[in-house]
Amino acid sequence: MQQLQNYINGKFVSPLSSEWIDNYNPSNGEIYSKIPKSKQEDVELAFEAAKKAFPEWSNTTLEKRSQLLLKIANLLQQKLVEFAQAESKDNGKPLSLALNIDIPRAISNFEFYAHALTQFGSEAHESVGKNTINFTLRKPIGVVGCISPWNLPLYLFSWKIAPALAAGNCVVAKPSEITPMTAYLLSEICIEAGLPKGVLNIVHGLGNEVGQAMVEHPQIKAISFTGGTKTGEHIARTAAPMFKKLSLELGGKNPNLIFADCDYDKMLQTTVKSSFANQGQICLCGSRIFVEESIYEKFKNDFIAETKKLKVGVPSEASSDLGAVVSEAHMQKILGYINQAEKQDAKILTGGKRVEVKDYENGYYLEPTIIEVQSNRCQLNQEEIFGPVVTILPFKTEEQALEMANDVRYGLSATVWTSNLDRAMRLSNTLEAGIIWVNTWLNRDLRTPFGGTKDSGVGREGGFEALRFFTEPKNVCIQYKN
Ligand code: NAD
Repeated sequence: MQQLQNYINGKFVSPLSSEWIDNYNPSNGEIYSKIPKSKQEDVELAFEAAKKAFPEWSNTTLEKRSQLLLKIANLLQQKLVEFAQAESKDNGKPLSLALNIDIPRAISNFEFYAHALTQFGSEAHESVGKNTINFTLRKPIGVVGCISPWNLPLYLFSWKIAPALAAGNCVVAKPSEITPMTAYLLSEICIEAGLPKGVLNIVHGLGNEVGQAMVEHPQIKAISFTGGTKTGEHIARTAAPMFKKLSLELGGKNPNLIFADCDYDKMLQTTVKSSFANQGQICLCGSRIFVEESIYEKFKNDFIAETKKLKVGVPSEASSDLGAVVSEAHMQKILGYINQAEKQDAKILTGGKRVEVKDYENGYYLEPTIIEVQSNRCQLNQEEIFGPVVTILPFKTEEQALEMANDVRYGLSATVWTSNLDRAMRLSNTLEAGIIWVNTWLNRDLRTPFGGTKDSGVGREGGFEALRFFTEPKNVCIQYKN
């Protein structure tokens, strides 16, 4: 069991309160690490270090910044296995997922922004006035805050930190208290890479203490947040009087629309993944499945059969398709939703129970669960469960499918399975979501904008969008003599 520390001003430091929080390994319910229970005063220390580092970091050449980000990426690559093991133990996700998706994507995030920063910059144009030229500088904001959730810990932590640093800001960052380990290991890498002190500061602790102090800090001028919609609302309310710049990536309840004319086998295999990957704890999972009536019964039977083949087991074993859900509290919340099924006139078609894994009886394992609902208006279809639980419901027409897909407070992503290009285009235009996939799922190009509409968030991450968020445009207009 490891006692973690904060990373402030280039060094590891204990929280000023000398208090620690137990952090659990969901695969066996045992304590995995102790994390600093930091408070507002630790955030203040981190802020002061970041503020002091800002003048030099913001004037560092693009080449130097780019090299440092690449160095971090290279060191991560060398330690990929160590990081993947830590991620899997902290989160409960299958080791194979951490090895093949989470950590490689964190590496790509640093690499991508190491290159993107050299292509992002000011725009200049001749102005309408006589002998004038206009150019728009993109200035770093100063000290910015990054707050991330537990489901894709390093993947999402680095998705914020990399563009924030690339744009020339200094950062105070807070990983989820439930999965702090890889952020801690990243601090070691930053020291090894020679990142100047104070440029990145990582403060561990609870959301309502550390996160709250970051959002309340009058001089942390921008907050990039990924997490639940309720927390996002609270952050928006706290930050509004200070006119703080916010990027909010929030919850989802994504529709998966399946038409009879789709490539059936590809759809079926992908739908199993989009339902249960990472135990259904990806904000982009397609948790509401709508199926055209003519193939509904066939799909239902095949989907149940494929889901039953999935193995729930110890995350470190290569044969495990699903590991543990992240915490006991989260497991109880998911079971609470499943237990509502009957009251909502819904039928559990497969799954629905906790799984006892041999020698890991205290782990938080759940069966992948399919529930047949009677209406899209039921609670199971309207609220984010964020676990290995999906609902299925037939539809008669495209219009009805669209209406149900959009009839929800969220608008993060949507998936459409059809071979009809006209229909694919119609739905891409009318589905209320920030990300639409047609005949694919989780296919991400890092250059493209990422984020949701409605209660799924405000703003976009990814590509130049994140660099725009982490910079202030400043327009300069010069008139010169002939
Ligand atoms: P959460 O909102 O509970 O916590 C997210 C982070 O916010 C944590 O670091 C937490 O400590 C911190 N926090 C909590 N209270 C805070 C406060 N008052 N002020 C500032 N920070 C505070 O979310 P979670 O349970 O960690 O993550 C799951 C949620 O994240 C799901 O709703 C999921 O859909 C969402 N998510 C969204 C995306 C996306 O890109 N849209 C991606 C991943 C996860």
